[in-house]
Amino acid sequence: MTTYEVRLTQTVEIADGTAAFQFTKPAGFNFKPGQAVDLVLIDPASPNAENLRHTFSIVAAPFQEELVLATRMRDSAYKRALRSLPVGAAASIEGPFGSLVLPEDRARPAVFIAGGIGITPFISILRQAAHDRLPQHLRLLYSNRRPEDAAFLEELQQRDRQHENFRLVATMTAISKSSRQWDGETVSIDGAFLKRAAGALVAPIYYVAGPPTMVEEMCETLNRMDVDDDDICSEDFFGY
Ligand SMILES: Cc1cc2nc3c(=O)[nH]c(=O)nc-3n(C[C@H](O)[C@H](O)[C@H](O)COP(=O)(O)OP(=O)(O)OC[C@H]3O[C@@H](n4cnc5c(N)ncnc54)[C@H](O)[C@@H]3O)c2cc1C
Repeated sequence: MTTYEVRLTQTVEIADGTAAFQFTKPAGFNFKPGQAVDLVLIDPASPNAENLRHTFSIVAAPFQEELVLATRMRDSAYKRALRSLPVGAAASIEGPFGSLVLPEDRARPAVFIAGGIGITPFISILRQAAHDRLPQHLRLLYSNRRPEDAAFLEELQQRDRQHENFRLVATMTAISKSSRQWDGETVSIDGAFLKRAAGALVAPIYYVAGPPTMVEEMCETLNRMDVDDDDICSEDFFGY
């Protein structure tokens, strides 16, 4: 796998406890929407120790000039090092890798199921699809506890209003803990939810990303609905 040097250009809070990190995109670094990289940091507390490494899906689409990763900020050694990275600091990325990418067959609709920060690969896919004016029907089922936790929610709501081929079905499963107005779904994604939100699509391919327990549950639910494993593509975000 190829290693590239990148530099941090900006850090932005994009939801409660969630930040996006924008880096320079190295010359010659090509990726497909939905793919991931390892971001390798030098630990400022012990610069000679083994480098800190975590995997992140790339949020930015390939047509965009910058490279953006987004994560829930935690009190782990890695996230402490990431948080303290000053603008202009160097880091390395290794990759890209991952098979969470749209199929070549544009006739098949795609249903994305994202739990929390599992939204990241789908943002890249949706941005590139809009940029390329893909005719493919794309549907996103996006589950969070509260709107405050839902990264990229406004961007997605706007896409839903503007693009005929894209529909967002967001659900907030702890809306009583929110101070925001919410008129949408509030139940967890289960078989009935899937049928309601995507049942009318013909032979879709399903993509699932999020915490491992959620991904496992979704894959089992899809299997019970007679969706074949070949038609499910999933990514476990370990550590959540
Ligand atoms: C393909 C892929 C894409 C990802 N994309 C994103 C993204 O876009 N945004 C994001 O926030 N996160 C993403 N992740 C998860 C990310 O790599 C971190 O694991 C996560 O952010 C938790 O890191 P942490 O420092 O908060 O916790 P950590 O302290 O690193 O992890 C907490 C606990 O999780 C368990 N754990 C961590 N990593 C693994 C592992 N590889 N295998 C098994 N158990 C493990 C360990 O028990 C660990 O103690 C992705 C993971 C994968 C594999």
